[in-house]
Amino acid sequence: MLAVVPPPVTVRVPSKVNLHLSVGDVRDDGFHELTTIFQALSLTDEVTVAAAEEPGVEVFGEGAKSVPTDEGNLAWRAVRALAEHVDRAEDIDKVGVVLRKGIPVAGGMAGGSADAAATLVGLSSLWKLDLARDELAQIAATLGSDVPFALYGGTALGTGRGEELVPVLSRHTFHWVLAFDQRGLSTPRVYGELDRLRADGDPPRVGSHAPVVEALASGDPKQLALLLGNDLQAAAVSLRPGLRRTLRAGVNAGALAGTVSGSGPTCAFLCESADAALEVAAELAGAGVCRTVRVAHGPVPGARVVGGDDAP
Ligand code: ATP
Repeated sequence: MLAVVPPPVTVRVPSKVNLHLSVGDVRDDGFHELTTIFQALSLTDEVTVAAAEEPGVEVFGEGAKSVPTDEGNLAWRAVRALAEHVDRAEDIDKVGVVLRKGIPVAGGMAGGSADAAATLVGLSSLWKLDLARDELAQIAATLGSDVPFALYGGTALGTGRGEELVPVLSRHTFHWVLAFDQRGLSTPRVYGELDRLRADGDPPRVGSHAPVVEALASGDPKQLALLLGNDLQAAAVSLRPGLRRTLRAGVNAGALAGTVSGSGPTCAFLCESADAALEVAAELAGAGVCRTVRVAHGPVPGARVVGGDDAP
């Protein structure tokens, strides 16, 4: 008798930019206490989860060569975590995952976390598990601090390690230009550099997140631009001094403001409109300060099945 094979499920998942990232002290578990405001952007990865004879992960697209295809891939860790959660660990031998990456690898835009979130949604749909998004978010939090946000998307305040989320009202579509650097930056290395800078002196820290929440509610990109702030920026720039030039070039090209995204090295420039973003992107691409330039907008929804309304 022929087995009925479920059709593959493809999930689109957003990247993130941190509009505000305040890094507190190191906790006993080695993580830093964070207060951050995430915004999900239209720069996405696509993840296909399918029944397969050969289990594993294949990776195509942006930075594919530097992404592990073994157990170290966050998408595969998501397969394993979900299978264990529903007591189907033996079935992972029949799961294949294909990643089509648009999000820069080790770029501070949570690409690996996005793939993990998309895989949770995709496998849940493939196996018809009918799990609520909040239940997936609990599994997501065990995989990494940014994974729950990639499930929900939108704009959110994150605390703890960034995994405790509260949605933030955002009235406007904001337009961004993203400058990808030649190489990625390791997130632990950037945190280590911040600890070193703080041990040596007292680098300035971002203030309260409250004015950022107000600016998002007002929907005025000029107001928001004045408030973008990231405690990791000094550390990223210290490790990659060329980023200073990139940040300057974006503002000279007409962006309202620029910030290093998360742990970098991607720089994100907030622009006044979609047209302004296209102009800034064109000028920045010609300035020779980065590898690739992309335009994006946010907020956008979290991980969603493509062409389906059966996302959990
Ligand atoms: P974050 O902003 O969450 O700190 P990031 O965006 O800087 O992360 P990622 O692209 O998530 O960085 O990748 C960090 C490292 O994780 C990569 O160098 C890669 O070796 C590993 N990795 C594991 N799985 C993936 C994946 N699915 N996509 C990209 N990198 C992955």
